Amino acid sequence: MSYDDGNVFAKILRGEIPCSKVYEDDHALAFHDISAQTPVHVLVIPKGPYVSLDDFTEKAPETLVAGFFRAVGETARRLGVVENGYRMLTNTGRDANQEVMHFHVHIFAGRPLGGMIKRG
Ligand code: AMP
Repeated sequence: MSYDDGNVFAKILRGEIPCSKVYEDDHALAFHDISAQTPVHVLVIPKGPYVSLDDFTEKAPETLVAGFFRAVGETARRLGVVENGYRMLTNTGRDANQEVMHFHVHIFAGRPLGGMIKRG
């Protein structure tokens, strides 16, 4: 799938739509999910046109891949969720119900998160 820069996260990166920012550096932007599913629910997105994890790791330069994942860790530390724990998740494609076609990881935290995945 090719990248469509009309997606909502591309608009956030261009400053066309506001976000509740948690962290930003040259490689990534982290902001609160608009429809939080846990007490802490933050999204981290790379600054570049990548649809998914596989697209990102295939096409992005090494500095961006490394910088992005460092930004995910930095975001978790700034959120203060490291001690009690958190879950990082990325949805890719139809079977995972990916809604926004700009690569992003979710950070869930703030309560016990239960089993890793729903059965059925
Ligand atoms: P996914 O299903 O992994 O693609 O998740 C997309 C996430 O983006 C959902 O959890 C949405 O609630 C979230 N989302 C959609 N639009 C916005 C927005 N404008 N600001 C923050 N989060 C958003």
